[in-house]
Amino acid sequence: MSFTSVIGNASAVARLRAAIRNGRLAHGYIFAGPEGVGKTLIATEFAKAILCERGGDDACGECGSCRKFGHGNHPGFERMEPEGKGRVIRIEALRELQRGLAFGTRGAAHLIVVIEPADRMLPAVANAFLKTLEEPPAGIMLVLITAQPAALLETIVSRCQMVRFAPVPRADIEAFLMKQRGAAPDAARLAAAMSDGSPGRAIALLDGGLAAQRDDLLEKLQDLTPDNSPDLVEQLVRSIGKGSASSGDQRLAARGLLNLVLYIYRDMLSARMAGEDYPLHSADCRQAIASAAQRLDADDLLAAVDMLIEAIGQIDVNVNLEMLLDDLLGRIAEMNARSGGVRREA
Ligand SMILES: [Zn+2]
Repeated sequence: MSFTSVIGNASAVARLRAAIRNGRLAHGYIFAGPEGVGKTLIATEFAKAILCERGGDDACGECGSCRKFGHGNHPGFERMEPEGKGRVIRIEALRELQRGLAFGTRGAAHLIVVIEPADRMLPAVANAFLKTLEEPPAGIMLVLITAQPAALLETIVSRCQMVRFAPVPRADIEAFLMKQRGAAPDAARLAAAMSDGSPGRAIALLDGGLAAQRDDLLEKLQDLTPDNSPDLVEQLVRSIGKGSASSGDQRLAARGLLNLVLYIYRDMLSARMAGEDYPLHSADCRQAIASAAQRLDADDLLAAVDMLIEAIGQIDVNVNLEMLLDDLLGRIAEMNARSGGVRREA
């Protein structure tokens, strides 16, 4: 792996490579941008390139340093993440890091510490951390990764170089999935559309059998009645990891799930309104989408799309996810009943 494995965010990568080339590395960087757009991957490649013994602006992949890095045991690279139930960076962990940094770069030319997510520090910890940023030992670089730069202390931000990351364009992700992952064009298109500009999420969606999940949902949504709607709610609540995953992961999964449902209804609306040659997100199941769409009024499909967009907007506003799904599916079931959209009696 090297910078060539990164897709998107070309200007951020170019800026980091130029800093390596010109020997103008900062002591602290903040990598800010939405989840899943490549901040962690780029921070890792940045560190690997800095440590590479060949001295270019990208890792060679062959020298002793690059090999150690590849094996995950390079003394010049360290990660720090929040721990425990509260998922916060604890003062004990910070003290341990600071004690370690006092020994310098441990024989490596540099020591790069990646802290992610860096916004999970209580104010007292952030203040203690500031000391390290103010007087960094020689050769030490801190890379703070965050999706919420506004949550960082202003004094921390002012001592770091800010590098901003953006979602990767859909067409780039689609091309990447086909070229690098051998995905079929239809599958690549659906996963890219659903990924919110995150190559990592697109890969996970592809590997997680997105098309199969969509087909299952399309079936069950068509058959949804007020009577069987609680069963589907239960299935979906399980699928977003309720009871096992962290609240953040559940919301991420719920967002992916509702986005998938939204794409199904958008496609049905296109099929209903535009006839044969409409472009679909799910071009591979055109027939099933078109026949599902025929059973519903265009007005209802439009209302369903609006309802889903609204529900997706509520996911992050601390709404009870089970209630949100229950309400949403209840309304879809009513819509089915009203327009005779149910294929067979439950
Ligand atoms: Zn190397």
